[in-house]
Amino acid sequence: MNINPLVDVKEGCSSAPILKERGQNEVFCGLTGIIWLHRKIQDAFFLVVGSRTCAHLLQSAAGVMIFAEPRFGTAILEEKDLAGMADAQEELDSQVDKLLERRPEIRQLFLVGSCPSEVIKLDLSKAAERMTLKYAPTVRVLSYSGSGIETTFTQGEDACLASMVNTLEKTEEKELILVGALPDIVEDQFLTILKQLGIRRVSTFPSRTVGSAPKIGENVKFILCQPFLGDTCEALEDKGATHIAAPFPFGEEGTTHWLKAIATQFTVEDSLFEKVTEAPRNRARKALELVSKNLSGRSVFFFPDSQLEISLARFLVRECGMNALEVGSPYINRKIVAPDLEMLPKGPIISEGQDVDCQLDRCREAQPDLTICGMGLANPLEAEGLATKWSIELVFSPVHGYEQAGDLASLFYRPIKRRELLKV
Ligand code: SF4
Repeated sequence: MNINPLVDVKEGCSSAPILKERGQNEVFCGLTGIIWLHRKIQDAFFLVVGSRTCAHLLQSAAGVMIFAEPRFGTAILEEKDLAGMADAQEELDSQVDKLLERRPEIRQLFLVGSCPSEVIKLDLSKAAERMTLKYAPTVRVLSYSGSGIETTFTQGEDACLASMVNTLEKTEEKELILVGALPDIVEDQFLTILKQLGIRRVSTFPSRTVGSAPKIGENVKFILCQPFLGDTCEALEDKGATHIAAPFPFGEEGTTHWLKAIATQFTVEDSLFEKVTEAPRNRARKALELVSKNLSGRSVFFFPDSQLEISLARFLVRECGMNALEVGSPYINRKIVAPDLEMLPKGPIISEGQDVDCQLDRCREAQPDLTICGMGLANPLEAEGLATKWSIELVFSPVHGYEQAGDLASLFYRPIKRRELLKV
Protein backbone atom coordinates (compact mmCIF):
# COMPACT_ATOMS: atom_id res chain seq x y z
CA MET A 1 0.00 0.00 0.00
CA ASN A 2 1.27 3.48 -0.75
CA ILE A 3 0.04 6.90 0.25
CA ASN A 4 0.37 9.43 -2.52
CA PRO A 5 2.44 12.43 -1.53
CA LEU A 6 0.31 15.48 -0.80
CA VAL A 7 1.55 17.29 -3.88
CA ASP A 8 2.04 14.97 -6.81
CA VAL A 9 0.58 17.13 -9.57
CA LYS A 10 2.89 19.06 -11.88
CA GLU A 11 1.28 22.32 -10.92
CA GLY A 12 -1.59 22.76 -8.49
CA CYS A 13 -3.98 25.67 -8.08
CA SER A 14 -2.26 27.26 -5.04
CA SER A 15 -0.77 30.03 -7.11
CA ALA A 16 -3.56 30.18 -9.70
CA PRO A 17 -5.15 33.63 -10.01
CA ILE A 18 -8.54 33.91 -8.34
CA LEU A 19 -11.34 35.59 -10.26
CA LYS A 20 -13.02 37.77 -7.62
CA GLU A 21 -16.62 38.65 -8.33
CA ARG A 22 -18.72 40.99 -6.23
CA GLY A 23 -22.08 41.16 -7.98
CA GLN A 24 -25.53 39.73 -7.31
CA ASN A 25 -25.42 36.30 -5.69
CA GLU A 26 -27.88 33.45 -5.39
CA VAL A 27 -27.14 31.69 -2.12
CA PHE A 28 -29.23 30.61 0.89
CA CYS A 29 -28.68 32.49 4.16
CA GLY A 30 -26.99 31.07 7.29
CA LEU A 31 -30.31 30.09 8.89
CA THR A 32 -30.14 26.94 6.76
CA GLY A 33 -27.44 25.50 9.04
CA ILE A 34 -30.08 25.05 11.76
CA ILE A 35 -31.50 22.15 9.74
CA TRP A 36 -28.45 19.96 10.41
CA LEU A 37 -27.28 21.61 13.65
CA HIS A 38 -30.53 20.95 15.55
CA ARG A 39 -30.22 17.26 14.72
CA LYS A 40 -26.59 17.16 15.83
CA ILE A 41 -26.80 19.08 19.12
CA GLN A 42 -29.43 17.07 20.90
CA ASP A 43 -30.10 19.30 23.91
CA ALA A 44 -30.21 22.60 21.99
CA PHE A 45 -33.02 24.80 20.74
CA PHE A 46 -32.52 27.34 17.96
CA LEU A 47 -34.79 30.36 18.27
CA VAL A 48 -34.64 32.50 15.15
CA VAL A 49 -35.57 36.09 15.84
CA GLY A 50 -36.93 36.97 12.45
CA SER A 51 -39.81 37.38 10.05
CA ARG A 52 -42.40 35.07 8.51
CA THR A 53 -40.01 34.64 5.55
CA CYS A 54 -37.38 33.21 7.91
CA ALA A 55 -39.98 30.85 9.42
CA HIS A 56 -41.06 29.69 5.95
CA LEU A 57 -37.46 29.09 4.87
CA LEU A 58 -36.86 26.84 7.87
CA GLN A 59 -40.15 25.00 7.58
CA SER A 60 -39.85 24.29 3.89
CA ALA A 61 -36.17 23.32 4.03
CA ALA A 62 -36.64 21.08 7.08
CA GLY A 63 -40.31 20.08 6.86
CA VAL A 64 -39.85 16.79 5.09
CA MET A 65 -37.17 15.63 7.47
CA ILE A 66 -38.87 16.20 10.78
CA PHE A 67 -40.80 13.47 12.51
CA ALA A 68 -40.80 14.78 16.08
CA GLU A 69 -41.37 18.16 17.71
CA PRO A 70 -38.59 20.27 16.21
CA ARG A 71 -35.90 21.88 18.29
CA PHE A 72 -36.07 25.12 16.39
CA GLY A 73 -38.63 27.86 15.97
CA THR A 74 -39.06 31.49 15.01
CA ALA A 75 -39.93 34.40 17.27
CA ILE A 76 -41.70 36.52 14.68
CA LEU A 77 -40.96 40.22 14.71
CA GLU A 78 -44.31 41.91 14.01
CA GLU A 79 -44.90 45.27 12.32
CA LYS A 80 -44.97 47.07 15.65
CA ASP A 81 -41.55 45.63 16.60
CA LEU A 82 -40.09 46.66 13.28
CA ALA A 83 -41.56 50.14 13.61
CA GLY A 84 -40.00 50.49 17.06
CA MET A 85 -43.42 50.76 18.72
CA ALA A 86 -42.91 47.79 21.02
CA ASP A 87 -40.00 46.75 23.20
CA ALA A 88 -38.71 43.79 21.21
CA GLN A 89 -36.35 42.76 24.05
CA GLU A 90 -39.26 42.46 26.46
CA GLU A 91 -41.29 40.43 23.99
CA LEU A 92 -38.33 38.16 23.35
CA ASP A 93 -37.92 37.58 27.10
CA SER A 94 -41.52 36.55 27.46
CA GLN A 95 -41.33 34.19 24.44
CA VAL A 96 -38.21 32.56 25.88
CA ASP A 97 -39.88 32.19 29.30
CA LYS A 98 -42.78 30.33 27.69
CA LEU A 99 -40.50 28.19 25.55
CA LEU A 100 -38.28 27.05 28.43
CA GLU A 101 -41.27 26.30 30.61
CA ARG A 102 -42.80 24.13 27.86
CA ARG A 103 -39.50 22.41 26.92
CA PRO A 104 -37.64 21.63 30.17
CA GLU A 105 -35.21 19.31 28.33
CA ILE A 106 -33.46 22.27 26.64
CA ARG A 107 -29.93 22.88 27.97
CA GLN A 108 -28.61 25.28 25.31
CA LEU A 109 -30.62 28.01 23.66
CA PHE A 110 -29.31 29.79 20.58
CA LEU A 111 -30.84 33.16 19.74
CA VAL A 112 -30.28 33.36 15.99
CA GLY A 113 -30.21 36.77 14.34
CA SER A 114 -31.79 37.37 10.93
CA CYS A 115 -32.05 40.23 8.41
CA PRO A 116 -35.01 41.89 10.22
CA SER A 117 -33.40 41.65 13.68
CA GLU A 118 -30.25 43.19 12.24
CA VAL A 119 -32.11 45.98 10.49
CA ILE A 120 -33.80 47.06 13.73
CA LYS A 121 -30.46 46.54 15.54
CA LEU A 122 -31.87 44.18 18.12
CA ASP A 123 -28.91 43.31 20.34
CA LEU A 124 -29.15 39.54 20.72
CA SER A 125 -25.77 39.15 22.44
CA LYS A 126 -27.01 41.40 25.24
CA ALA A 127 -30.24 39.40 25.42
CA ALA A 128 -28.21 36.16 25.61
CA GLU A 129 -26.07 37.52 28.47
CA ARG A 130 -29.16 38.60 30.38
CA MET A 131 -30.89 35.27 29.86
CA THR A 132 -27.78 33.25 30.77
CA LEU A 133 -27.78 34.96 34.17
CA LYS A 134 -31.49 34.32 34.56
CA TYR A 135 -31.53 30.62 33.61
CA ALA A 136 -28.07 29.52 34.83
CA PRO A 137 -26.99 26.85 35.42
CA THR A 138 -29.84 24.88 33.83
CA VAL A 139 -29.79 26.56 30.42
CA ARG A 140 -26.95 28.30 28.60
CA VAL A 141 -28.03 31.03 26.18
CA LEU A 142 -25.84 32.06 23.22
CA SER A 143 -26.41 34.16 20.13
CA TYR A 144 -25.13 34.31 16.57
CA SER A 145 -26.21 35.72 13.24
CA GLY A 146 -27.71 33.65 10.42
CA SER A 147 -28.80 36.72 8.50
CA GLY A 148 -28.59 36.74 4.72
CA ILE A 149 -26.87 40.14 4.93
CA GLU A 150 -23.90 38.60 6.73
CA THR A 151 -23.85 34.89 5.99
CA THR A 152 -24.18 32.35 3.20
CA PHE A 153 -25.74 29.02 3.98
CA THR A 154 -22.86 27.11 5.52
CA GLN A 155 -21.55 30.17 7.40
CA GLY A 156 -24.43 29.77 9.88
CA GLU A 157 -22.69 26.68 11.28
CA ASP A 158 -19.41 28.58 11.50
CA ALA A 159 -21.06 31.45 13.39
CA CYS A 160 -22.83 29.00 15.72
CA LEU A 161 -19.64 27.07 16.59
CA ALA A 162 -17.58 30.23 16.98
CA SER A 163 -20.17 31.50 19.50
CA MET A 164 -19.62 28.35 21.59
CA VAL A 165 -15.81 28.53 21.80
CA ASN A 166 -15.80 30.92 24.77
CA THR A 167 -17.88 28.45 26.80
CA LEU A 168 -15.33 25.61 26.51
CA GLU A 169 -13.51 24.64 29.68
CA LYS A 170 -9.70 24.64 29.87
CA THR A 171 -7.44 21.60 29.87
CA GLU A 172 -3.70 20.93 30.00
CA GLU A 173 -4.11 17.49 28.39
CA LYS A 174 -2.99 16.56 24.88
CA GLU A 175 -6.29 16.09 23.10
CA LEU A 176 -7.75 16.04 19.61
CA ILE A 177 -10.96 17.79 18.54
CA LEU A 178 -12.79 17.00 15.30
CA VAL A 179 -14.47 20.28 14.37
CA GLY A 180 -17.67 20.41 12.30
CA ALA A 181 -21.11 18.81 12.52
CA LEU A 182 -20.91 15.43 10.83
CA PRO A 183 -23.75 12.91 10.63
CA ASP A 184 -23.46 10.57 13.65
CA ILE A 185 -22.67 7.55 11.46
CA VAL A 186 -19.67 9.29 9.85
CA GLU A 187 -18.47 10.70 13.17
CA ASP A 188 -18.59 7.21 14.70
CA GLN A 189 -16.56 5.76 11.81
CA PHE A 190 -13.83 8.38 12.30
CA LEU A 191 -13.80 7.87 16.08
CA THR A 192 -13.39 4.11 15.59
CA ILE A 193 -10.42 4.56 13.24
CA LEU A 194 -8.77 7.09 15.58
CA LYS A 195 -9.18 4.69 18.47
CA GLN A 196 -7.58 1.92 16.43
CA LEU A 197 -4.70 4.30 15.74
CA GLY A 198 -4.23 4.57 19.50
CA ILE A 199 -5.44 8.20 19.82
CA ARG A 200 -7.51 8.04 22.98
CA ARG A 201 -8.53 11.56 23.93
CA VAL A 202 -10.74 12.61 21.04
CA SER A 203 -13.81 14.82 21.20
CA THR A 204 -16.13 16.39 18.67
CA PHE A 205 -17.27 19.96 18.28
CA PRO A 206 -20.17 20.53 18.35
CA SER A 207 -20.72 17.79 20.90
CA ARG A 208 -24.06 16.02 20.99
CA THR A 209 -24.80 17.43 24.48
CA VAL A 210 -23.40 20.16 26.77
CA GLY A 211 -21.92 17.52 29.08
CA SER A 212 -19.68 16.02 26.39
CA ALA A 213 -18.25 19.34 25.12
CA PRO A 214 -14.52 19.34 24.28
CA LYS A 215 -11.98 21.13 26.44
CA ILE A 216 -9.49 23.63 25.09
CA GLY A 217 -5.87 24.57 25.80
CA GLU A 218 -2.30 24.84 24.53
CA ASN A 219 -1.89 21.09 24.15
CA VAL A 220 -5.09 20.62 22.20
CA LYS A 221 -4.91 20.05 18.46
CA PHE A 222 -7.92 20.26 16.21
CA ILE A 223 -8.76 19.35 12.65
CA LEU A 224 -11.62 20.76 10.60
CA CYS A 225 -14.13 18.38 9.02
CA GLN A 226 -15.64 21.13 6.85
CA PRO A 227 -13.87 23.88 4.91
CA PHE A 228 -16.36 26.60 5.85
CA LEU A 229 -15.31 26.94 9.50
CA GLY A 230 -12.88 29.86 9.24
CA ASP A 231 -14.16 31.91 12.21
CA THR A 232 -14.33 28.81 14.42
CA CYS A 233 -10.76 27.92 13.44
CA GLU A 234 -9.55 31.37 14.45
CA ALA A 235 -11.50 31.36 17.72
CA LEU A 236 -9.99 27.97 18.68
CA GLU A 237 -6.50 29.19 17.80
CA ASP A 238 -7.05 32.29 19.95
CA LYS A 239 -7.58 29.90 22.86
CA GLY A 240 -4.17 28.35 22.22
CA ALA A 241 -5.20 25.21 20.30
CA THR A 242 -3.28 24.15 17.16
CA HIS A 243 -4.96 23.74 13.78
CA ILE A 244 -3.91 20.61 11.85
CA ALA A 245 -3.92 21.56 8.15
CA ALA A 246 -5.05 18.83 5.74
CA PRO A 247 -7.11 18.19 2.63
CA PHE A 248 -10.73 17.50 3.55
CA PRO A 249 -11.83 13.87 4.00
CA PHE A 250 -13.72 13.39 0.73
CA GLY A 251 -12.91 10.22 -1.18
CA GLU A 252 -10.27 7.64 -0.42
CA GLU A 253 -7.32 9.93 -1.02
CA GLY A 254 -8.72 12.92 0.88
CA THR A 255 -9.67 10.75 3.85
CA THR A 256 -6.24 9.11 3.95
CA HIS A 257 -4.40 12.44 3.89
CA TRP A 258 -6.72 13.87 6.54
CA LEU A 259 -6.16 10.89 8.85
CA LYS A 260 -2.44 10.87 8.08
CA ALA A 261 -2.17 14.55 9.12
CA ILE A 262 -3.68 13.63 12.50
CA ALA A 263 -1.52 10.50 12.81
CA THR A 264 1.65 12.55 12.21
CA GLN A 265 0.73 15.03 14.96
CA PHE A 266 0.06 12.18 17.40
CA THR A 267 3.19 10.22 16.35
CA VAL A 268 1.36 7.12 15.17
CA GLU A 269 3.73 4.56 13.59
CA ASP A 270 3.44 4.28 9.79
CA SER A 271 3.02 0.52 10.04
CA LEU A 272 0.04 0.87 12.41
CA PHE A 273 -1.48 3.55 10.18
CA GLU A 274 -1.23 1.28 7.17
CA LYS A 275 -2.62 -1.71 9.03
CA VAL A 276 -5.64 0.21 10.33
CA THR A 277 -6.50 2.01 7.09
CA GLU A 278 -5.78 -0.74 4.57
CA ALA A 279 -9.18 -2.47 4.58
CA PRO A 280 -11.36 0.68 4.51
CA ARG A 281 -9.10 2.19 1.84
CA ASN A 282 -9.55 -0.86 -0.34
CA ARG A 283 -13.32 -0.78 0.17
CA ALA A 284 -13.38 2.90 -0.81
CA ARG A 285 -11.24 2.29 -3.90
CA LYS A 286 -13.46 -0.57 -5.07
CA ALA A 287 -16.63 1.47 -4.56
CA LEU A 288 -15.07 4.38 -6.45
CA GLU A 289 -13.93 2.19 -9.34
CA LEU A 290 -17.53 1.19 -10.00
CA VAL A 291 -18.79 4.77 -10.29
CA SER A 292 -15.79 6.73 -11.52
CA LYS A 293 -15.77 5.00 -14.91
CA ASN A 294 -19.08 6.80 -15.56
CA LEU A 295 -17.69 10.16 -14.49
CA SER A 296 -14.25 9.95 -16.06
CA GLY A 297 -13.66 12.43 -18.90
CA ARG A 298 -16.83 14.42 -18.16
CA SER A 299 -16.74 18.11 -17.32
CA VAL A 300 -18.02 19.82 -14.18
CA PHE A 301 -18.79 23.46 -13.33
CA PHE A 302 -19.25 24.67 -9.75
CA PHE A 303 -21.34 27.71 -8.86
CA PRO A 304 -20.41 29.16 -5.45
CA ASP A 305 -22.64 27.93 -2.66
CA SER A 306 -21.30 25.86 0.22
CA GLN A 307 -17.49 26.50 0.36
CA LEU A 308 -17.05 22.75 -0.20
CA GLU A 309 -16.41 23.38 -3.88
CA ILE A 310 -12.58 23.32 -3.96
CA SER A 311 -12.34 20.13 -1.92
CA LEU A 312 -15.03 18.41 -3.98
CA ALA A 313 -13.40 19.51 -7.24
CA ARG A 314 -10.14 17.97 -6.03
CA PHE A 315 -12.02 14.71 -5.36
CA LEU A 316 -13.83 14.70 -8.72
CA VAL A 317 -10.72 15.51 -10.74
CA ARG A 318 -8.23 13.23 -9.00
CA GLU A 319 -10.36 10.29 -7.93
CA CYS A 320 -13.10 10.29 -10.57
CA GLY A 321 -11.18 11.58 -13.59
CA MET A 322 -13.49 14.55 -14.20
CA ASN A 323 -12.43 17.77 -15.87
CA ALA A 324 -13.21 20.87 -13.76
CA LEU A 325 -14.03 23.93 -15.88
CA GLU A 326 -14.81 26.46 -13.16
CA VAL A 327 -14.69 26.08 -9.39
CA GLY A 328 -16.62 28.88 -7.74
CA SER A 329 -16.75 29.35 -4.00
CA PRO A 330 -18.55 32.09 -2.00
CA TYR A 331 -15.39 32.67 0.00
CA ILE A 332 -11.92 31.16 -0.27
CA ASN A 333 -9.99 30.91 2.99
CA ARG A 334 -6.57 30.08 1.60
CA LYS A 335 -5.18 28.92 4.93
CA ILE A 336 -7.90 26.30 5.24
CA VAL A 337 -8.16 25.07 1.66
CA ALA A 338 -4.45 25.36 0.77
CA PRO A 339 -3.82 21.57 0.83
CA ASP A 340 -6.81 20.95 -1.48
CA LEU A 341 -5.77 23.79 -3.80
CA GLU A 342 -2.27 22.34 -4.02
CA MET A 343 -3.65 18.96 -5.04
CA LEU A 344 -6.13 20.29 -7.60
CA PRO A 345 -4.34 20.24 -10.96
CA LYS A 346 -4.05 23.64 -12.63
CA GLY A 347 -6.68 24.26 -15.29
CA PRO A 348 -10.09 25.34 -13.96
CA ILE A 349 -11.05 28.98 -13.39
CA ILE A 350 -11.04 29.47 -9.62
CA SER A 351 -13.61 32.12 -8.71
CA GLU A 352 -14.61 33.69 -5.42
CA GLY A 353 -17.91 35.49 -4.77
CA GLN A 354 -20.47 35.80 -7.51
CA ASP A 355 -21.81 37.94 -10.28
CA VAL A 356 -24.53 35.53 -11.22
CA ASP A 357 -25.32 36.75 -14.74
CA CYS A 358 -21.66 36.73 -15.79
CA GLN A 359 -21.22 33.29 -14.31
CA LEU A 360 -24.33 31.95 -16.03
CA ASP A 361 -22.91 33.22 -19.33
CA ARG A 362 -19.63 31.36 -18.70
CA CYS A 363 -21.54 28.21 -17.78
CA ARG A 364 -23.75 28.32 -20.89
CA GLU A 365 -20.71 28.88 -23.04
CA ALA A 366 -18.85 25.96 -21.43
CA GLN A 367 -21.82 23.53 -21.65
CA PRO A 368 -20.52 21.30 -18.81
CA ASP A 369 -21.70 17.71 -18.44
CA LEU A 370 -22.55 18.50 -14.82
CA THR A 371 -23.29 21.77 -13.02
CA ILE A 372 -23.24 22.00 -9.21
CA CYS A 373 -25.36 24.91 -8.03
CA GLY A 374 -27.96 26.20 -5.60
CA MET A 375 -31.62 25.19 -5.92
CA GLY A 376 -32.60 28.53 -7.45
CA LEU A 377 -30.34 28.08 -10.47
CA ALA A 378 -30.88 24.35 -10.98
CA ASN A 379 -34.35 24.43 -12.55
CA PRO A 380 -33.63 27.08 -15.19
CA LEU A 381 -30.37 25.34 -16.13
CA GLU A 382 -32.11 21.94 -16.35
CA ALA A 383 -34.70 23.56 -18.64
CA GLU A 384 -31.82 24.65 -20.85
CA GLY A 385 -30.62 21.07 -21.10
CA LEU A 386 -27.84 21.01 -18.48
CA ALA A 387 -27.54 18.27 -15.85
CA THR A 388 -27.44 19.84 -12.38
CA LYS A 389 -26.79 18.80 -8.80
CA TRP A 390 -28.05 20.81 -5.81
CA SER A 391 -25.07 21.70 -3.69
CA ILE A 392 -27.24 21.69 -0.56
CA GLU A 393 -27.54 17.88 -0.82
CA LEU A 394 -23.79 17.60 -0.36
CA VAL A 395 -24.14 19.25 3.04
CA PHE A 396 -27.18 17.21 4.13
CA SER A 397 -25.91 13.77 3.05
CA PRO A 398 -23.23 11.62 4.70
CA VAL A 399 -20.35 12.17 2.25
CA HIS A 400 -17.14 12.21 4.32
CA GLY A 401 -14.83 9.28 4.92
CA TYR A 402 -13.95 5.93 3.36
CA GLU A 403 -17.33 4.23 3.62
CA GLN A 404 -19.13 7.11 1.90
CA ALA A 405 -16.62 7.59 -0.98
CA GLY A 406 -18.68 5.54 -3.45
CA ASP A 407 -21.94 7.26 -2.41
CA LEU A 408 -20.32 10.65 -2.87
CA ALA A 409 -19.29 9.82 -6.44
CA SER A 410 -22.78 8.39 -7.10
CA LEU A 411 -24.40 11.66 -6.02
CA PHE A 412 -22.57 13.33 -8.91
CA TYR A 413 -23.35 10.59 -11.42
CA ARG A 414 -27.12 10.47 -10.77
CA PRO A 415 -28.06 13.72 -12.59
CA ILE A 416 -25.87 12.78 -15.58
CA LYS A 417 -27.53 9.38 -15.80
CA ARG A 418 -31.01 10.91 -15.51
CA ARG A 419 -30.29 13.27 -18.39
CA GLU A 420 -28.95 10.42 -20.52
CA LEU A 421 -32.13 8.43 -19.89
CA LEU A 422 -34.22 11.45 -20.83
CA LYS A 423 -32.33 11.71 -24.12
CA VAL A 424 -33.03 8.04 -24.90
FE1 SF4 B 1 -34.54 35.79 4.30
FE2 SF4 B 1 -32.80 37.15 5.81
FE3 SF4 B 1 -34.65 35.59 6.99
FE4 SF4 B 1 -32.62 34.48 5.64
S1 SF4 B 1 -32.45 35.72 7.50
S2 SF4 B 1 -34.77 33.90 5.50
S3 SF4 B 1 -32.32 35.94 3.97
S4 SF4 B 1 -35.03 37.43 5.76
